[in-house]
Amino acid sequence: MKRIYLSSPTMHDEEQLLVKEAFDTNWIAPLGPHVDAFEKEISEYMGEGMHAAALSAGTAAIHMALKCLGIKRGDIVFAPSLTFSASVNPVVYEGAVPVFIDSEKDTWNMDPEALKKAFEKYPHPAAVIVVHLYGTPAKLDEIKKICDEHDVPIVEDAAESLSSTYKGRQTGTFGKIGIISFNGNKIITSSGGGMMLSSNEEYTKKATFLSTQARDPARHYQHSNIGYNYRMSNVVAAIGRGQLKHLEEHKVLKKKIYEQYKEAFKDIGALSMNPLNKDGDANNWLSCMSIDPKCSVTPDMVMDALAEKCNAETRPIWKPLHLQPVFKDCDFIKAGDVDVAADIFDHGLCLPSDIKNTPEDMDMIIRTIKELFA
Ligand SMILES: *Cc1c(COP(=O)(O)O)cnc(C)c1O
Repeated sequence: MKRIYLSSPTMHDEEQLLVKEAFDTNWIAPLGPHVDAFEKEISEYMGEGMHAAALSAGTAAIHMALKCLGIKRGDIVFAPSLTFSASVNPVVYEGAVPVFIDSEKDTWNMDPEALKKAFEKYPHPAAVIVVHLYGTPAKLDEIKKICDEHDVPIVEDAAESLSSTYKGRQTGTFGKIGIISFNGNKIITSSGGGMMLSSNEEYTKKATFLSTQARDPARHYQHSNIGYNYRMSNVVAAIGRGQLKHLEEHKVLKKKIYEQYKEAFKDIGALSMNPLNKDGDANNWLSCMSIDPKCSVTPDMVMDALAEKCNAETRPIWKPLHLQPVFKDCDFIKAGDVDVAADIFDHGLCLPSDIKNTPEDMDMIIRTIKELFA
C-alpha cells in the first residue's frame, strides 16, 4: 500500500534544469549566481523595499536575526510556547532567556492578552518572536501595537507561513526582521535552507557577513567578529528558485486540502479544523483538527487508524515548549487560568496535507476519520 505523507517535497521540471545549469557552469559551491538571484526573487515576492539573506536553514536565520538585534547573555526574549523548538533554540545559543507566552483560541498563535501580562512582569524584553503556526497569521496588529508601545523589536518566524498574507501583506515582512524556511516539509523546499528578511538592508548585510565567517575586508584572513558558516549554497538556491515558481500553485492545493477536510467534517460536532485568521489569507501549510475533550475519540486513535487503514502519516500538534524537559525552568505566561497551548496539544493533530494526495487518498482518509466519529 502506498504511503500517504504529511507534507513531502513536490518537485517540478524547473528545479532539475536550474541545478543542471549550476553543474554545467561549475557553480556548485559556495555561493554563486543562483544565490543572488534567489535572494532577489524572494525580496520581490515579499514586497517593495524588502531585502533577503539566503542561509543554510530557517533556524540559522533566527540565530542571525537575534545577532543583528544584539541579543546578549541574560536578555529576556518572549516567544509563543506553541511552536517548533527551532523558533526558540537560537535564543539559548546566545545565552538569552526565553519567556513563553500562551496561545489564543482564535488563531492558535501568541495571545495578545498574555503578551500584555508578560510585559507587566518583564517590562524590558530584548525581542518578541512571533510565529504563524501551520500557516495561519497571528493577530499582528494587536501584537505589533503592544510591542511598539514598549519599543521592543519583533522577530517574525514565518517558517511555516510563506505565501500567507495578513491584511494583504506577506507574513515575514511585519517584524523588524523576518525569517522563512525551505526545509523538506515546508510549502516549498530547497532540500534545506532559509532566509532572513528585513526592510533594513543593514541587517541583511550583517547576516550575510556573519554567516560567511565574518571576514574583515583585508587581503589576509582577519576577523574582528566571531563568524558562522550559515550561507546557502548555489545548488540549494537553484532548487529553491525552481520551487518559488510553483509557490502560488502549492498554496492553492494546500487550501483545497484544508477546505475538503472542513467540508467533509462540517456535520461532526466534536471535530473542528484549525482556525484561520479572518484578517489574513493562510497558506494552509498543514491542515489540523481538534477534538472536543468530551468526545471519546482521542487524537491517538485518529493517528493509529490513519496509519493502519490508510498507511498515512500524521503528526501530533507541536508539544508546547513550556512543557518540554529542556525548557522546564522557563517562565510561561497565560492570559487567564486556562493553559490554551496545552489544550490545543492535548486535543489536536496534524492531518496528511501533502499536495500530491490523490482524490482517492483524500476520500480514504476522510472515510476513516468519519468511521471513528460515527
Ligand atoms: C521549520 C521551522 C523552523 C526552522 O526552520 P529550518 O529551516 O528547519 O531550520 C523554525 N520555526 C518554525 C515555526 C518551523 O516550523
